[in-house]
Amino acid sequence: MEATIVEQPNLFLLKRRGPTIIPRPEHCVSRKDMDREALKVLYRLKDHGYLAYLVGGSVRDLLLGRRPKDFDVGTNATPRQVRRLFRYSRIIGKRFRLVHVYFRGRKIIEVSTFRRQIEFDDREAARLGLSENEIYGTPKEDAFRRDLTINGLFYNIADFSIIDYVGGMEDLRRGIIRTIGEPSVRFIRDPVRMMRAVRHAARTGFTIEPATWEALEQHRGLIRLCSIHRVRDEWLKDLNSGKSAAWARLAYRAGLLQELFPAYWQGLDQDQERRVLHLLEGLLKGLDGLISQGETVDEPLLIALLVMPRLLTAPEWLALESNKLKWPTHEARGLLMEFLAPFDFRRAVQDAAAQILASQWPIGLCYARGNWPKRVVNKPTFESALELYKMVRDVVRGEEAVTVHSSSAPSKRRRRRRRRKKRGKA
Ligand code: ATP
Ligand code: MG
Repeated sequence: MEATIVEQPNLFLLKRRGPTIIPRPEHCVSRKDMDREALKVLYRLKDHGYLAYLVGGSVRDLLLGRRPKDFDVGTNATPRQVRRLFRYSRIIGKRFRLVHVYFRGRKIIEVSTFRRQIEFDDREAARLGLSENEIYGTPKEDAFRRDLTINGLFYNIADFSIIDYVGGMEDLRRGIIRTIGEPSVRFIRDPVRMMRAVRHAARTGFTIEPATWEALEQHRGLIRLCSIHRVRDEWLKDLNSGKSAAWARLAYRAGLLQELFPAYWQGLDQDQERRVLHLLEGLLKGLDGLISQGETVDEPLLIALLVMPRLLTAPEWLALESNKLKWPTHEARGLLMEFLAPFDFRRAVQDAAAQILASQWPIGLCYARGNWPKRVVNKPTFESALELYKMVRDVVRGEEAVTVHSSSAPSKRRRRRRRRKKRGKA
């Protein structure tokens, strides 16, 4: 952690003083880097007298010179008012109500109303009988309810300035990940924020500042109390981020990876744990490579890949491996779900992931014999299984083995033609 850490001004002082406004000539955020549809939404809201800001991750990414994944809009118009302004829009969200504005080409712009710093969601607010005034708030309140300082910046379409209530510009400039407000309080209120801190540190290469890091180490166990579906979506997003190797390394150092997958790390001695981590990082580097080439990697392959390093040290698996003719899909599923407990994946995803794992030995045999029987190649998960096999081989056996074997892999074209023929017959 080399960066010089700047003390964040006291939260009380930050809240008391007004925002820092960075006028257009002093920052790099340009409308030409924004989606046309997002600009349309911003202008329409502004023209109807509402505040209209670009918020959250899109401002952060634009300031970093990156292309944002999505452009989220914040406004003081309520969801119903937003809904009225856009013909093709819908109010969505169970936890937090917001508006989706639809454009041609399946483009969606998400518009959320500035919220007060209440920690409970809209369902609880409804149960408590809170009025809209008690849920929705000012831009300032909305900035302070966000997770990290670098995610708390606004871009104002009225004068193209950046509005910074939380010290996010300074942290972006210095490369620092810091929670907005007291880290312990923020993590206790929503432990998923710990995963978000690790995610953004891994993605940006920024340093997690000491107080945030300490709170993370102290409260990491709380992640087990969160909704498994929410947490699962978060780590799947991290695996898919193109920076998954850095994410895993940091999440392990923070102890979060151990809290997320306790069974995965159980029963390993120090050497085995080091080996699992080494294999995992190696596989994830391969995955990051695929994703940076624009490939989409589906859920079964993601979870098979995550579990593979652990399987390679599991005695049950090694015993099965000695019987190379067996296709132990159900054993593979059992181990897979044990290591990924308590995340309850759909049965179809479990089956596909187990099949990918179980196909590893037949694929190894095919490579060795240079012969690819139909029963191996025609499996629906074959492409994914082959991908995993190559990644494991790269990590376990090193580069030399890759060149020796790659010539005997069946080409995609041959396989496709064969399949088409079969369909034609039927
Ligand atoms: P990405 O590039 O992955 O979309 P993002 O920062 O935009 O990154 P989102 O999940 O899209 O992440 O969230 C949008 C914004 O909502 C964040 O930038 C942050 O300000 C706020 N936010 C999201 N989750 C939380 C949370 N758990 N607590 C507080 N604020 C949050
Ligand atoms: Mg986002």
